[in-house]
Amino acid sequence: MLPEICENVPLASLTTLGVGGPAKFFARAQDVHDVEEAVRFAENRGLALFVLGGGSNLVVADAGWDGLVLQIAIGEIHQQSAEGKTILDVGAGVGWDQFVAHAVSLNCAGVECLSGIPGSVGGTPVQNVGAYGQEVSESVVSVLVFDLKQKCVRELRTAECGFSYRVSIFNTSERGRYIILRVTYALMPGGVPAVKYADLQKYFAQRGGPPTLTETREAVRSIRASKGMLITPGDPDSKSAGSFFKNPVVSAEQHNDLAGRAAERNLQIPSYPALSQQHKISAAWLVENSGFKKGYTKGRAAISSKHALAIVNRGGASAAEILALRDEIKNRVEETWGILLEPEPVFVGL
Ligand SMILES: Cc1cc2nc3c(=O)[nH]c(=O)nc-3n(C[C@H](O)[C@H](O)[C@H](O)COP(=O)(O)OP(=O)(O)OC[C@H]3O[C@@H](n4cnc5c(N)ncnc54)[C@H](O)[C@@H]3O)c2cc1C
Repeated sequence: MLPEICENVPLASLTTLGVGGPAKFFARAQDVHDVEEAVRFAENRGLALFVLGGGSNLVVADAGWDGLVLQIAIGEIHQQSAEGKTILDVGAGVGWDQFVAHAVSLNCAGVECLSGIPGSVGGTPVQNVGAYGQEVSESVVSVLVFDLKQKCVRELRTAECGFSYRVSIFNTSERGRYIILRVTYALMPGGVPAVKYADLQKYFAQRGGPPTLTETREAVRSIRASKGMLITPGDPDSKSAGSFFKNPVVSAEQHNDLAGRAAERNLQIPSYPALSQQHKISAAWLVENSGFKKGYTKGRAAISSKHALAIVNRGGASAAEILALRDEIKNRVEETWGILLEPEPVFVGL
């Protein structure tokens, strides 16, 4: 049976940034059968399909989406053990942070530093979600997908997913081909938390011995909240799509050029182990050193007052206002540093 298909459904309230117009058609899939039926519905009517998770990495056009938006609401977590690891097979519609809380409650390590990231489990392989020194690709074993090209369910092993920094086949070479149904993770029971990141190490500096997984989760959530990177009711700085720009990865030559430009301004490019590996530059540093202060406001869009990388909706902003601020930041960073910032969110209908 076809899942309920609604017409003219506002999308803004289904995203964390809260901008954009309606979906012409909207359906929610609880299982693979719903997915297949919804895909058929779209194909029969020649409608463009957009797959929605938790809406936490999206900027939706003011005109909305002139096709079918299919939200993946597949649930359930199945657990087994193999080769000393806990294997968790998780529905794409399960809330990501709900899953992390579950893993931590089982005392399983591998995703604790990814606490507090909003959105769905199915959204996380798409840009290989990462934070505080951990990336989801480190624990993903396989991704169960509906292949829109071959019209069948397939299992993709990690090596087939093409994971790297904020990249996978799902947002590059095979963009739009796969609907993620379930994700399987291998976690380490009784594992030690990964406390690699400077902010986390500082948080635990006074603690004798390594923190527990629960303490690590709490620390990550608390650090995130202080940066407006945890969705917190009443915190206007958390009405965003997270980081709006990726940290640029530059060549050694570009890095030298940047260091020279910085020296002319009596500045030093920040260097953390996580950044230096691939000559990754802090996008937040570039924004702040291009004349933008946290809290900078343009119409009803603003830079978060807690984090230079987040563009926030100060209330009733349009997508056009968000994009105008994006362009102003991009242009100024390019003029000042010769670096073209790449946006992180997905633009829908734009
Ligand atoms: C406050 C805040 C903090 C954030 N912090 C981080 C962070 O630290 N690190 C980080 O990496 N990201 C961060 N993000 C971004 C975002 O939370 C992640 O990218 C998240 O994984 C997106 O998942 P989602 O379910 O919300 O996807 P959506 O926003 O709904 O969709 C994003 C993309 O994934 C696709 N997609 C979603 N679900 C599926 C599916 N089941 N099958 C196929 N495609 C799908 C969509 O089509 C779209 O292209 C943050 C966002 C916010 C608002």
